[in-house]
Amino acid sequence: MDSARLTTHKPVTADVAPETVLHQVFGYDQFRPLQGEVIHELVAGRDAMVLMPTGGGKSLCYQVPALVRPGTGIVISPLIALMQDQVMALRQLGVRAAFLNSTMDFQQARDTENALLTGELDLLYCAPERLLQPRTLELMHQASISLFAIDEAHCVSQWGHDFRADYLGLDILAREFSEIPRIALTATADERTRKEIAERLSLTDARHFISGFDRPNIQYRIAPKINANKQLIDFIKEEYATDAGIVYCLSRNKVEATARLLCSKGYTALPYHAGLPSEMRAEHQERFLREDGVIVVATIAFGMGIDKPDVRFVAHMDLPKSLEAYYQETGRAGRDGNPSTAWMVYGLQDVIKLRQMLEGSAGNDHFKRVERQKLDAMLGLCEITTCRRQALLRYFGDKQETPCGNCDTCLVPPETWDGTVAVQKALSCVFRTGQRFGVSYLIDVLRGVENDRILQAGHHAVSTFGIGSELSSAEWKSVFRQLVANGHLRADPEGYGALQLTESCRPLLKGEQTVNLRKDPVIKSRKTAGAGSKVKDQITDHVGWEALRACRKTLAEEQGVPPYVIFHDTTLFEILERRPQCLEELAGVSGVGAAKLERYGEAFLKALAALGADATQAS
Ligand code: ADP
Ligand code: ZN
Repeated sequence: MDSARLTTHKPVTADVAPETVLHQVFGYDQFRPLQGEVIHELVAGRDAMVLMPTGGGKSLCYQVPALVRPGTGIVISPLIALMQDQVMALRQLGVRAAFLNSTMDFQQARDTENALLTGELDLLYCAPERLLQPRTLELMHQASISLFAIDEAHCVSQWGHDFRADYLGLDILAREFSEIPRIALTATADERTRKEIAERLSLTDARHFISGFDRPNIQYRIAPKINANKQLIDFIKEEYATDAGIVYCLSRNKVEATARLLCSKGYTALPYHAGLPSEMRAEHQERFLREDGVIVVATIAFGMGIDKPDVRFVAHMDLPKSLEAYYQETGRAGRDGNPSTAWMVYGLQDVIKLRQMLEGSAGNDHFKRVERQKLDAMLGLCEITTCRRQALLRYFGDKQETPCGNCDTCLVPPETWDGTVAVQKALSCVFRTGQRFGVSYLIDVLRGVENDRILQAGHHAVSTFGIGSELSSAEWKSVFRQLVANGHLRADPEGYGALQLTESCRPLLKGEQTVNLRKDPVIKSRKTAGAGSKVKDQITDHVGWEALRACRKTLAEEQGVPPYVIFHDTTLFEILERRPQCLEELAGVSGVGAAKLERYGEAFLKALAALGADATQAS
């Protein structure tokens, strides 16, 4: 971004109320829960630690105080893409924002540094490694700083999945800039991690602001894997045919194959994984952000720092390793608060694969034990027969008293059945065949199939041969999956997929303990219910909607930004509903701040007027 465009608007002067900034700059009516309190804390010069779910509105917590307090707010952010997005969006709001990172040449960096020193910046985004360079620290000492914001603060946690060594150096801010308020923000942190963050960043005196973890607009759905590709296509076709979404796969090959599959069905699907050239990755990310209805198929390498608000679905073709990962990945859906879906299919092979990866991984016993617990929790969520959201929130220490009504188990409660005898048969079949065989073989023995392998091994003569003909292969698969998920069976550590008994299966084998199993529902893709209807579904005036979208698209192209940076869908929808006749009326729409009103107001009024004219002509 060129520095010539740095000064976009008049600075907001000091001594304004946070509410005024919210209204004038951001165009919003009121603070979301906790935002007001956090902002008050910082404006008063105190530190804060903020835990809010994705889409909860963390950015405003430091952006508003940075505009209210004198000086520049320094934002430490781990990802360059994220910085660029934020700066772009802020400039659209008329905020004087810039970033310092390794993508800039010497002159650009110089210009930005000068702007900082001469007080021409409201916000400066900076990568941690950049900030910690002696030269940058020296610069900070010379400048007038309003606050330090440490975004994605969980990166400081060595146990977390996003650990960034540079974050460890950030406690220097506490020592060298003790008089400047600091705020740490994250969306993913259990109590232990939160404590770790506070300690490592020397934020021990900071007040903690913890908002609920719930993302009510996301519908959680987990289905047994039958024909994963077909299930995915049906889901997208029936519910999100023209929307943006992310599909996660475990391996690069599968990413490629799934992207090809979706393309062959007419979707714009782009692969994204660490094995692709970085230019291609950047291009795919860019298209995802800027074009409408792009699907990115990705390994977990994709997503952190993707601020796109209108991602309508996140689909998992493979099981994530932990609930933390699941929650973070699914959390990328619906940041704009509109109905969205977290969709996943999983099957026995996923369970076996993850268990094997874990046992075969390097790492000491303690590490493995923690990982095993995490995987168990993930599997528990898959097999649960009660509300998924309650279970998820409980895991994160956030209680919800009543079932949510917006997850698959709430919408279509799964049936259970008494699996005591089936489980006994399955376990004893594993035992009788020597704990050396995989699930298909075991099912064949149970169902009495006389194939060559079984005959050769002599397993047509074991006592469990043919004792399980009352269940179909699919039903037996479901039994085995639940046994592995619950830890009564494990896949052999050598990785051949042979199932072995564990200690915990003893009482089951003896029939001393009754077992309730989940009856896998017959999969029919279901229309979403209870989530409130999607913005799209509420639109009756399609001509008007398309006209406003076209207007937004033109402006976005002129500005070189994604359409949602001009206005979110919700703002566009409100404009369509309210049909403002003048700038003043337009200013009343949520999401229309002073700068955007001035820049784009006329264009949208014109687009509305043209519609009106058409309508009159037509009648
Ligand atoms: P987070 O960083 O917590 O994931 P963001 O700061 O990106 O969330 O905010 C999510 C969305 O909510 C953004 O589009 C933002 O503009 C919007 N938002 C934040 N605060 C408010 C508010 N007080 N009123 C209306 N919209 C808001
Ligand atoms: Zn529920």
